[in-house]
Amino acid sequence: MKGRIPTPEELQRELNEFLKKNYGDGIQDVRVIPPYPEANEDGVREGKSKSSKFSFNFNLKPKEVKAHLDKYVIKQDDAKKTLAIAICDHYNHVAECIKREREQGDSKSDSDEEYTKQNVLLIGPTGVGKTYLIKTLAKLIGVPFVKADATKFSETGYVGGNVEDIIRDLVTEAEGNVDVAKYGMVFIDEIDKIASAANLIGKDVSGRGVQTGLLKLMEDTDVDLNTPYDPISQLQAMMEFQKKGKVEKRTINTKHILFFVSGAFNQLEDIIKERLQKQGIGFGAKVESKKVNVDYLKECKSSDLVKFGFEPEFVGRLPVRVVCHELSVEDLFNILKQSEGSIIKQYKKAFKAYGIDVIFSDESLMEIAKRAYEEKTGARALATVCERVFREFKFELPSTDIKSFIVTKEMIEDPVGELQKLINDPTENKKLIAKAMIREYEKEYAEKYKINLTFSDEAIELINKKAQAEGMNIKAFCDKLLEDYYHGLNLIKRNTGKADFVVTEEVVNDPIGALDRWVKKHYTARSVESTATVS
Ligand code: ADP
Repeated sequence: MKGRIPTPEELQRELNEFLKKNYGDGIQDVRVIPPYPEANEDGVREGKSKSSKFSFNFNLKPKEVKAHLDKYVIKQDDAKKTLAIAICDHYNHVAECIKREREQGDSKSDSDEEYTKQNVLLIGPTGVGKTYLIKTLAKLIGVPFVKADATKFSETGYVGGNVEDIIRDLVTEAEGNVDVAKYGMVFIDEIDKIASAANLIGKDVSGRGVQTGLLKLMEDTDVDLNTPYDPISQLQAMMEFQKKGKVEKRTINTKHILFFVSGAFNQLEDIIKERLQKQGIGFGAKVESKKVNVDYLKECKSSDLVKFGFEPEFVGRLPVRVVCHELSVEDLFNILKQSEGSIIKQYKKAFKAYGIDVIFSDESLMEIAKRAYEEKTGARALATVCERVFREFKFELPSTDIKSFIVTKEMIEDPVGELQKLINDPTENKKLIAKAMIREYEKEYAEKYKINLTFSDEAIELINKKAQAEGMNIKAFCDKLLEDYYHGLNLIKRNTGKADFVVTEEVVNDPIGALDRWVKKHYTARSVESTATVS
């Protein structure tokens, strides 16, 4: 150990063990914040941590950002658009500052004074993608992201510190690299809980204090990374002093950190409604009488937020407002089916680790979506429902011979019973897999060749049997079966315009003969009637 400075993690672990041992469990955990001297090949840490200048190359356009978000986040179209614009504005500005700094050694310009940072207020119920949107953006841009609940803050601090801790967390997230952390994203959830309006029960002046603290951070503040009340930070400083004979004051400036504050804002809708009605523009009344579901939140003004309990200065620092909507059953289905971050992918991977291929039928996904919707926690419930349904499957199946299965609607309804059925007799499920694979094949064929094939039930059963006997998978078997078909079918299509064909048992038993007969039939049919049907 001598001569070797421990890693931040080791130091944190050892100190916490020491504190627990000597002072009991009541003591709060302490955290080690990099920057920290980087270890050389011998494990010795010296010199500065990776603080090479952040080469920030931002060249995305709002439409590209939105297109990226579309891959992950379902619905919330307005939110995606507004965020894409705000993000591009902010990071274009950041890129310009970095460029200026590099060229002139000065990041400030006259236009800086006029620039209003695009901090965002996100309004919407739980589990609809507010955090997910921002996390996805941070990943796209390559900046660190941290999230905290506003309720954890108090004027005296959280985790032994204060609101500034979240900025120090951002530095930790950036592995100690302040040059990266200073362009990061901070997400503060449950911001509505620190509103201090008199009409909100249980809210007091402490909310106002936290707002003031956050307000400072959202502006332009230097946050000290060596905190006087943090023993670890002091210890790090001591070590640095031993090594270098001096301690550098380490700070991070918050000017370019982008803030996102978010909450459900339950009573805000009533405040807006009341204002609109009072304004006497008949907006609310008209809507009320027609019982149209109007998006009041979209009409939100700063004054409504002040009435809700925020300080005007605080609201003023949040120029971008984004409303996220509740998700319907269909949205939840689309999340499962289409989102790049779908939990279904995770389940497929988990089973694949045991060599098991899983197919999710659309009916099963719809059933999961319906059940999740009942829980009223947005897309969060998808994970809960899946965990409940697949717990036994994950436990039992890896120890069986089953190497693939299709998830049916019945499995979602009765996981334990259906799992037993699957284990006792997998043949029924195998037939369903074959059918699902063929339907997939039909879709791919139509996309590739613009010819619509429909396999009959009998043909599917026969293909399944033959493919199994030949040790082939369904797709490979079909490819082989129909390898000569494209030209023949295309010929028929060109001559008669017919593009829909039914693949029967005859085709499976005698592919070449069947195609021959189809083509011949069409040539004769064409002379009689160009729209003749065949199957
Ligand atoms: P909140 O709105 O409370 O911040 P989150 O963004 O944390 O909710 O959502 C929880 C999880 O649910 C996300 O990590 C994501 O997997 C999923 N999710 C929520 N909303 C969506 C959405 N609109 N599209 C895709 N996935 C979503």
